Amino acid sequence: MDTEARRNQSATRARSLSAVQEMNPHEAVNHFFDRAADHVKLSDEMRDILRTSYRELTVQVPVRMDDGRVMVFSGYRVQHNAARGPYKGGIRYHPDADIDEVRALAALMTWKTAVVDIPYGGAKGGVQCEPTIMSVGEKQRLTRRFTTMISYILGVNRDIPAPDVNTDAQTMAWMMDAYSSRYGYTPAIVTGKPIELGGSYGRDAATGRGVVEVLGEAARDLGIDVSGATVAIQGFGNVGSWAARLIGSLGVKVVAVSDVGGGIHRADGLDVQALYDHVAESRSVAGFPGAEAITNPELLELDVDVLIPAALDRVVNERNAGRVKARVVVEAANHPVTPAADAILEDRGVVVIPDILANAGGVTVSYFEWVQNIQQFRWDEARVNDELHKTMARSWKEVHARSAVDGIPLRLAAYAIAVEKVDRAEQLRGYI
Ligand code: NAD
Repeated sequence: MDTEARRNQSATRARSLSAVQEMNPHEAVNHFFDRAADHVKLSDEMRDILRTSYRELTVQVPVRMDDGRVMVFSGYRVQHNAARGPYKGGIRYHPDADIDEVRALAALMTWKTAVVDIPYGGAKGGVQCEPTIMSVGEKQRLTRRFTTMISYILGVNRDIPAPDVNTDAQTMAWMMDAYSSRYGYTPAIVTGKPIELGGSYGRDAATGRGVVEVLGEAARDLGIDVSGATVAIQGFGNVGSWAARLIGSLGVKVVAVSDVGGGIHRADGLDVQALYDHVAESRSVAGFPGAEAITNPELLELDVDVLIPAALDRVVNERNAGRVKARVVVEAANHPVTPAADAILEDRGVVVIPDILANAGGVTVSYFEWVQNIQQFRWDEARVNDELHKTMARSWKEVHARSAVDGIPLRLAAYAIAVEKVDRAEQLRGYI
């Protein structure tokens, strides 16, 4: 199909999608899956299997709060598919974490681990809570109880959690301890642990580093000169802050950053290390000296070359996609671009590097951590970063080649590769 015909098709798709309202997260992930299933001519039986989760566990987690009250939080662990290896995926603490969101993120993990070809399936977990107003003690009690309640479906060769939004190495240490106190010392039960407890060098930076690696590879292969280019990054947590700190290696200038507290913009470029120190002290990018204040919606529409959404899902949607000025969008967050927005960006010729490829650096180094725990042999940071680079570069090349050969967008190419791999694994194991 030529470019013009493709654009007409995506414009039609954008119109029909916006006519039916934005989809919920799980419908959206399945929308992308369905397109790939059509493209690779997946059988109806396999389509039914892969559109749904294998197992969904909902638990009610009672926690004694510091003021003596008991609060009950809803927690979820969804296992989507394990044809290619144990279930793998992060645990998110957020007020919006619900079964639909967790279900969508679990499916994304299946496609992500397949795109980068690491031997895992897909899972995700979440607890609906507001961690920013909880004490350390409350978060620890919540984490321990939640881990115990889902421990029956976890296992080193069954399901291995990791950090995600509002969870970190400390959360993983509590999870490991809660699991180990029941089943014996088991460092490989979670990844993203502190180094002292069997964590991997390079894991903390891995997702942000992978984002930068993929952007570098894409720029080279697509003939986009990023030296001197500008970038706006939404989110300055684990992923956004590491992407901001590492992107200078490509010659890209960070001109805007935001977080839940607001955004900042400086056309001449921000001093990222100074910003990092500012956030360590004040807990938000807002108020950084020498920069003008902007809102999160304004950041997404800034006149920059590259946009990196690295916070939450669905921030680029049918309402603002037409005003995104960046030529390249790198999906560091999971599902930051809705299907309707995706079609609009495609129609406008914006290059979108999809989440299942762009942010796969985290799960890749999680895999390296798991391997090190099982082998009881630690790699140095240079080896971790070198293996990460090889994985991200190879995966980009495969997605780019598929996109070029089949004449399809990068997202569809990534999903097509992933769906074929999972389908093949299911067939080989004789599931149907
Ligand atoms: P994090 O909790 O470390 O940081 C989240 C950031 O988003 C913070 O800066 C927070 O202030 C900001 N944020 C929260 N709500 C916001 C809002 N309403 N508007 C603007 N900013 C807001 O989380 P993270 O680990 O950096 O994850 C960010 C994204 O990357 C998520 O979509 C996550 O699923 C995805 N991801 C994370 C990893 C990982 O290894 N941590 C791996 C793959 C994908």
